[in-house]
Amino acid sequence: MEASLTARDRVGIQDFVLLDAYTSESAFLDNLRKRFHENLIYTYIGTLLVSVNPYKDLDIYSKKQMDTYMGVNFFELPPHIYALADNVFRTMLSEFNNHFILISGESGAGKTEASKKILQFYAVSCPSTKLLNNVRDRLLLSNPVLEAFGNAKTLKNDNSSRFGKYMDIQFDHRGGAVGGHILSYLLEKSRVVHQNHGERNFHIFYQLVEGGEEDLLRWLGLERNCKNYRYLVQGDCAKVSSINDKSDWKTVRKAMSVIDFGESDTEHLFAIIASVLHLGNLKFDADARGYATIKNNQEMHWVSKLLGIPNQVLQQGLTHRKIEAKTEEVIPFSVEHAVYARDALAKAIYGRTFNWLVNKINESLKTVTFFTHFTILILLFFYERKTHFEQFCINYCNEKLQQLFIQLTLKSEQEEYELEGIEWEPVPFFNNKIICDLVEEKFRGIISLLDEECLRPGEATDLTFLEKMEEKIGGHPHFVTHKLADKNTRKTLERGDFRLLHYAGEVTYCVVGFLDKNNDLLYRSGKEVMQHSKNVIIKHCFPSSEPDSKKRPETVVTQFKNSLVGLTEILMSKEPWYVRCIKPNESKQPAKFDDVLVRHQVKYLGLMEHLRVRRAGFAYRRKYEIFLQRYKALCPDTWPNWKGTPAEGVRCLIKHLGYKTNEYKLGRTKIFIRHPRTLFATEDAFQV
Ligand code: ATP
Ligand code: MG
Repeated sequence: MEASLTARDRVGIQDFVLLDAYTSESAFLDNLRKRFHENLIYTYIGTLLVSVNPYKDLDIYSKKQMDTYMGVNFFELPPHIYALADNVFRTMLSEFNNHFILISGESGAGKTEASKKILQFYAVSCPSTKLLNNVRDRLLLSNPVLEAFGNAKTLKNDNSSRFGKYMDIQFDHRGGAVGGHILSYLLEKSRVVHQNHGERNFHIFYQLVEGGEEDLLRWLGLERNCKNYRYLVQGDCAKVSSINDKSDWKTVRKAMSVIDFGESDTEHLFAIIASVLHLGNLKFDADARGYATIKNNQEMHWVSKLLGIPNQVLQQGLTHRKIEAKTEEVIPFSVEHAVYARDALAKAIYGRTFNWLVNKINESLKTVTFFTHFTILILLFFYERKTHFEQFCINYCNEKLQQLFIQLTLKSEQEEYELEGIEWEPVPFFNNKIICDLVEEKFRGIISLLDEECLRPGEATDLTFLEKMEEKIGGHPHFVTHKLADKNTRKTLERGDFRLLHYAGEVTYCVVGFLDKNNDLLYRSGKEVMQHSKNVIIKHCFPSSEPDSKKRPETVVTQFKNSLVGLTEILMSKEPWYVRCIKPNESKQPAKFDDVLVRHQVKYLGLMEHLRVRRAGFAYRRKYEIFLQRYKALCPDTWPNWKGTPAEGVRCLIKHLGYKTNEYKLGRTKIFIRHPRTLFATEDAFQV
């Protein structure tokens, strides 16, 4: 007993639900810290998995480990991402239903790594046939390709995912992986043309320049020197010690060949990547009237060649814009405008090519059967506290997911107890509907106001948008600006800022760029130029049937909002599982646990709230029939066949097992067990 107590003191407790001082955040943190220093990076809150990034390789992901976790009950082994993956998989097969695993945490917390571990686990544990192995390989190999085009080095993470991702894995009735589907959203396109100090552009650019074969580079007109390309050096860190672009290039090329990228696809794809680099090097001069002319014809030549667009057409498109009047008018750009248009074009080309790439991968992951399958959806969500338009969208998304979480977990938990006629103390929780409304309400929410301003080109600016918000939602308790703030708060706000009080804390947004990014303006002439392209991917990305600017395309935030509505509907029909990733320190170091940083994440990941619900309630519940069926052999009166109702059978069974009255409750259709350990004991008895 003594020995086990010391062990527990040392390594902490593997399920927070069993923690005695459960309500205190400090006790929570102590437990997490203890375990982290023992390399125990995983801890449960019931069935939610908390994971702390170790920033070093741990020997816990071997094939042997996977085998150990297969088919084992949740609490019989130390917490592990494999245990979660295995439980999701087995529940799906026994209950014939769909699931999603939501992996969240801030940048660098380990979301992408967690999702890869889950995929690898399924790759090993699912039934295999030649056909299924093919699907499996493609699922695994889609990752390096997506990461090459969608990830970049940032200050927080050398391999940061700069797009949101959902991945669906489809299984047949025996659990064979038969297909997959990837959905991406909100790629951070602005990175193509601008990177902050210490950050890079998307990996693929550097991989191509560093790793591309001589012939290929010659054909693309590229030199093997990242420093020569404006779009690659703004962060002043083209080389990163933790990244080997050359060998990554090989990996990506190999992966592309497995997932059905033919010669022609890859040629066209890299022609586009190279053309973006050439575009970035285009310079403009002002002519006598102050209008832009292209300075370096050599670069122009390469863009024109690689995209298959006649030089003249391209030049015209980059230096003039068409406007709609009674007759079509062409207006020359100033140098400043031309630079803007060039960057807008580069972003549009890259962004649309990325979407093409995701579609292409999806083609190759298309399910190989027609028959019923279940799905496991893996979602990665990131929390960012930076202050731009993209983060506004992401934080809005986090609010929506929090609402979903409340609905799925807290509410349904309470409702189930009520439905079952079981008494329990309601857990107070903060309902974030008020913030969701502030953002998305029709006519007066921030999104509506932003879209409204975007409808007034030439008149509206970021500042008029700010003023409009002040006028319409100025009194809202979760919204404040410099003008509206009291004296103390005002000190912390710049004039062009607005601050939202999100459920996870305050975030200050700088209003600059909101209109522009929401409009995602690509001058019509730019689009038309692209429609001349002979490059098949570009042709596909800029179809000539695209609604022209006369019909207003949906703004970025509205598209995003609509896709969230779709997503929420999908998620409501699935069973939720959660992985919450925590970043132990800002310096990416092993064995360093920064209390303040972790405490902050524990707070906004809602972990204490989740724990409170779990503790207040019952860790386990089973339908009487299922419980009786499983354990009836443990009692002579219920074995082999119980003649009465299942509820009576369970009553008889637990009396025999000696359950204490405070350990369980009997509802209308289910038995509720307070602690997992009660169930462990029963399981143990069953095993003996
Ligand atoms: P972002 O939001 O920026 O994409 P992320 O949450 O996806 O961040 P990851 O890329 O998964 O973060 O992790 C960042 C780095 O942390 C990894 O490159 C790896 O070095 C390390 N890391 C994460 N999880 C683990 C783990 N389980 N074991 C060892 N190292 C890990
Ligand atoms: Mg990531």
